[in-house]
Amino acid sequence: MGDANRPTDEVVYDDAGRTPLGNEAARDAAEPGAAPTEGPAGDTTQEPTGDAPQVAGDGAGCHAGADELRRAAEAAGQSELLQRLATDYPTGPHDQPQSMCPAFGSLRVGLRMRRTATVLCGSACCVYGLTFTSHFYGAKRSVGYVPFDSETLVTGKLFEDVRAAVQQLADPAKYDAVVVTNLCVPTASGVPLRLLPKAIDGVRIIGIDVPGFGVPTHAEAKDVLAGAMLKYARGEAEQGPVQAPREGRSEKPTVTLLGEMFPADPVGVGMLLEPLGLAAGPVVPTREWRELYAALDCAAVAAIHPYYTASIRELQEAGRRVVGSAPVGHDGTAAWLDAIADACNVPADKLAAAKNAFLPIIRKALAEAPVDGTITVSGYEGSELLVARLLMESGARVPYVGTAAPKTQWSKPDLEWLEARGTTVQFRAALEQDKAAVDAVKPDLAIGTTPVVQHAKQQSIPALYFTNLISARPLMGAAGAGSLAQVVNAALASRARFDRMNAFFAGVGDGDTAGIWDRMPAHADKSAGGHS
Ligand code: SF4
Repeated sequence: MGDANRPTDEVVYDDAGRTPLGNEAARDAAEPGAAPTEGPAGDTTQEPTGDAPQVAGDGAGCHAGADELRRAAEAAGQSELLQRLATDYPTGPHDQPQSMCPAFGSLRVGLRMRRTATVLCGSACCVYGLTFTSHFYGAKRSVGYVPFDSETLVTGKLFEDVRAAVQQLADPAKYDAVVVTNLCVPTASGVPLRLLPKAIDGVRIIGIDVPGFGVPTHAEAKDVLAGAMLKYARGEAEQGPVQAPREGRSEKPTVTLLGEMFPADPVGVGMLLEPLGLAAGPVVPTREWRELYAALDCAAVAAIHPYYTASIRELQEAGRRVVGSAPVGHDGTAAWLDAIADACNVPADKLAAAKNAFLPIIRKALAEAPVDGTITVSGYEGSELLVARLLMESGARVPYVGTAAPKTQWSKPDLEWLEARGTTVQFRAALEQDKAAVDAVKPDLAIGTTPVVQHAKQQSIPALYFTNLISARPLMGAAGAGSLAQVVNAALASRARFDRMNAFFAGVGDGDTAGIWDRMPAHADKSAGGHS
């Protein structure tokens, strides 16, 4: 052990370590005989003082607390951004559903677009998680990263670093656009991505803020980027001619489809639209920049996922009408065709022709693939209400639907249809609500997120992952009718297998039968609430 007073080689930059602390008096009072007020530099018990909210540097994140980050963002002049996010993505009754980092949504949208580079600006731990997840889900591209520390954050050097990175990356031979995303800490600190150049050598620069304390789900983060791109593309289209889609402009008026969907669904929707004299337009988020112009150049917008608020704003600014819900099942397809025909001024005889052509086929497909059982549905994709409708039209009973998405005016047709049939719909559903629904309903099958599925299976209730097994099937038109029946009926039939497994493992992995004990555990008196 060395002498504590011995001079060291430590470099001292300033007198910060000698600053008197606000909690000093309380500490002294609590510790009679404690060190005098001028504590040694590096005393880890000291805490920063000052009235202004502060954001810690690298390492602060979701666990630092959303309120803290929100306060810091307001202090950094980000009130307008926070206000817009609160309007576009309202929280409540639950303030933030449990889901992955929201920025994953916008990151994935950027990574799926041709000739688009993505750059993240945030804490290293967040970036690690986001890049890991994106590669886990098959991204075949690098994710750019501009690291920071407390010093570059507070001195504004971070913004200069971002600008330099963008400058270096913006090669028109490789890219149409570079997307820079501020994660939580740079957003809270007000790193001003809006001051980045709008374009460099013809490469568009899109700066977005996707903080976890402002965008509740990764589903809505997709809309943040899609909306920002549509806004940019709308500005370009207003200035003059723009690129046509790769396969040329559609000869018929088109319907832009909002929200990611199974690849066969736009094809099915296109078949439904054909007799109306319409065609399916691009799916937003698009896979290429030039598709954005085609998305704006539509006759109407189908808000298949009803929470694309920023994108809808841009499309409405372009003068487009928006239609909610989707052509799922018999009733859903009939109502959707009516709404599209109304939005696009389609004559009654064409509408009748489309309905006569497709509704009997859909009804037959539903009848040939019946589902008999009680099912709870929960998820964070935004298509939960549509899936519930399709299941009910197939014969299932669906007493509960939970979705992490918010309630919007575009979810109204599905909400009304479901509520009229006795279904409870919970928007912004929390995991606890989804699990409580499983406990209360005791369904024959629970469709949900990973923890909901786990909760159900522990009780011998068959369960299916929404994202992997339900979203990976067509839902719309004739192809969608009956497409869920196969996987759902197989799961419903597995109840006996779950009962067998539960009986076999009964009492294993729970209470005193879990873990490794260095002596024989006494059996717990469960009524007393724990082990002795
Ligand atoms: S960026 Fe994502 S992971 Fe990082 S602190 Fe924010 S919400 Fe959490």
